[in-house]
Amino acid sequence: MLCALWGLPVFSHATEKNCIKSDFVIAIDSGHSKANPGAISASGIGEYFFNHHIAQLLLEELVSHGFSKVFLISQDGEGLGLDTRTRIALEKKANVLLSIHHDSVQPRYLSKWECNGRQLYHCERFRGYSLFYSSKNEKAEESLILAQAVGAKLRKNGFVASLHHAEKIKGENRPLVDRERGIFKFDNLVVLKTAKMPAILVECGIIVNKDEETSLGDPAYQRMFVTSIREAVEEVCEQGNS
Ligand SMILES: [Zn+2]
Repeated sequence: MLCALWGLPVFSHATEKNCIKSDFVIAIDSGHSKANPGAISASGIGEYFFNHHIAQLLLEELVSHGFSKVFLISQDGEGLGLDTRTRIALEKKANVLLSIHHDSVQPRYLSKWECNGRQLYHCERFRGYSLFYSSKNEKAEESLILAQAVGAKLRKNGFVASLHHAEKIKGENRPLVDRERGIFKFDNLVVLKTAKMPAILVECGIIVNKDEETSLGDPAYQRMFVTSIREAVEEVCEQGNS
């Protein structure tokens, strides 16, 4: 069967057209760990702490809308390897994997500044979310469908995509497959290519941007962000057919 909306094969988990939320297993990955928190925000906070907070909010949002089998791959911030994360998702029979991250920029764009007595880095040049999928994922087309759904809901709810990962410079140069929805192809992202289920990586926003860091810390902004992802997951679940 073809998906009427996008003309691509649809999710194969369901045998009925209607989404059975209580059967739809969602793995949420908080990117990085407490010990190795990833990027450092303009105000000096490690990316992991943003990731884990959004992951927890997203879990609550999905559970409150009937997705009772949603789980966090890592509950307590331990440093799990990327292939371990995807193995856990497989063992728990996840239908989809959502890896939550917050973004930075290339070093050439970072400027020094002092914040709370610390020497830190920031960049006001770029802002916005980005979505990644891997064509090496076994369910690449379904991963792209998931990314399209998430991007469409984020745009509908007022979020803006950053296109900085498409810039043709060292460290970026990612193929931009959907400019409007902010979707990039990143084939060798380990958490995406080793996942056996449709998987996307969500960069929620750029935490080295002072203004965007403030937005990303706002509970109303966070709520709308996870609402958008939940709406997209509902849509792909409802598209399920075989
Ligand atoms: Zn990250």
